[in-house]
Parts: sequence; C-alpha cells; structure tokens
Amino acid sequence: MGLFSGMEKFGIKNVDAKKMYEKQEKPVEKQQEVVKKTVPEEPEENFLFAKKYDCPVCNTSITSLTVKSSKVRMIGSDMDLRPKYQQMDATKYDIVMCPKCGYANTAKNFPMVMPAHKKMIIDNISKTFNYKDPQSTFYSYDEAIMRYKLALTNAMVKNSKDSEKAYICLKLAWVIRGKAESLDPSSASYKDDLEECKVDEQGALQLAKDGFINARASEDFPIAGMDEPTVDYLISALCVELDDPKTAAKLLSNIIVSKTASSRVKDRARDLMAKVKKMLEEAGEE
Ligand SMILES: [Zn+2]
Repeated sequence: MGLFSGMEKFGIKNVDAKKMYEKQEKPVEKQQEVVKKTVPEEPEENFLFAKKYDCPVCNTSITSLTVKSSKVRMIGSDMDLRPKYQQMDATKYDIVMCPKCGYANTAKNFPMVMPAHKKMIIDNISKTFNYKDPQSTFYSYDEAIMRYKLALTNAMVKNSKDSEKAYICLKLAWVIRGKAESLDPSSASYKDDLEECKVDEQGALQLAKDGFINARASEDFPIAGMDEPTVDYLISALCVELDDPKTAAKLLSNIIVSKTASSRVKDRARDLMAKVKKMLEEAGEE
C-alpha cells in the first residue's frame, strides 16, 4: 500500500515505491503544522484551457487541462522551491495523461517516447489500465495526485532516469501539500485527512531526496533543468523537511562558499542555513 494506494481501481497494481531506486530510507514523520485554507477568488476554470496532444503510445487525440500562464501570478515559493501562485495551484496541471492507454508524463516530456519504452508501457500499464475520463473542467487534488502517481508508475515501468522520477516525486509532494492546505478545518475528518496528507507528503519527499542524491552522483548537470548549486540547495531543503539537518548543513556550507552559485541560490542557502543551525541547536548538536 502506501503512496500508490488508490491506483488499483485504475488497473494499476503492485507498484512498490520501495523499489523505485532499489533502496529506501524510512520516512520520518514531522510534527503537524497548522495550515491555512486558501480560497480562490475566481473559478479555477477561468485560468485553464484544454490543450490538445496526440498520445505517442496509442495515437489517440487527447486534451489536457493546462494553465494559462499569462493569467496567473507567482507570489513566492516554499523552501523546497514549490512555486505559489496568487490565483490557484498550478502544479496540479503539470502532468498530461492519456485516458485510453494510461501513458502519463510531465507536459514537457509527454511527446517523447522511445519505441522500446512504448512497448514497456503497453505491456505493463495499458493492458490492465481501466479509467473513465470524468471530463473535468478543473482537476481536484485527488485527480491531480492520481495523475502524478500514474506518471511515476510510467517512469518506473520504462526505467527513467533517477532525476526524472525524483522530479515527479517532488511535484507529487507539492500537490499533496496543496491538498493539505485546501482541507476544510471544520470538516469532521479534517485531522485524519491532514495526517494522511502529511504521511504521504513525507513519503514523496523522501523518494525525491533519494532520487536527487542518486542523480547527483550519476548524472550530468543540468539535472531536471537545475545546475549543481540549485540541486544541492534542493537536496538540503528536502533534508530539512525530512529532519536531517546535518546533511543539509554540509551541502549548504558548500553552496555559500561556491564560486559558481548565483547570488539568488546563495541567499536562499543562507536563509536555510539559519533554520538548520536552529534545528541543530535544538537537537543539542552544536
Ligand atoms: Zn494513449
């Protein structure tokens, strides 16, 4: 079960997140944080359009809801670089999926499927894939999370690079965080739902961290579009979120003295280092 639970109803079975990089550290649970509910002022539909794609696996013509980037304004980002927009949570719309064959990928990589990978997807996903397209006018958090899990399953099936899997895990964690922020505190199941989100988010963050650490050791930069200092910063942020300030401190000190890091990454690293020092102090390790 775990992160991939709920995928059985779409014909996706036996996905074991532990096998993603063939090694796995135990997720650490974090203390619950109070999260604010964000109420969108305008319907989410107003910021979306149905973009057309041809599925490269089954040749079906499909559409995927896509954010009108000119209509949304970025207002900041979380510690782990999750972008925040004033109007809506745009990360929900970064996965394109074919409702017919179950192929799913990030919008950028969706058109690119190698013939060998196509066969792996058909054999391991399409044959059992069973999905009724709800024809949504916007994606609920649960729909968005399902799309990410399907993209991750595809990446595992076709043995994608660790950086690709890690990037999807990171964004899955962001969408789960968005779901947690959108929960209604007055609902009877609020506490349980929030706890479930926290556990799932930590699971996804852990997988992202493991994958980026693997990628850093075995792939050439840029990794998932990021240069070395940015990847190191991101891994540090994931370490902080997963209660591992020691590893974060090592990486951050390298960024701060780096000759190649941009001042923007250095500033972020300094801010994060202040937090890490506090965590180490509290743990009595400095
Ligand atoms: Zn397809």
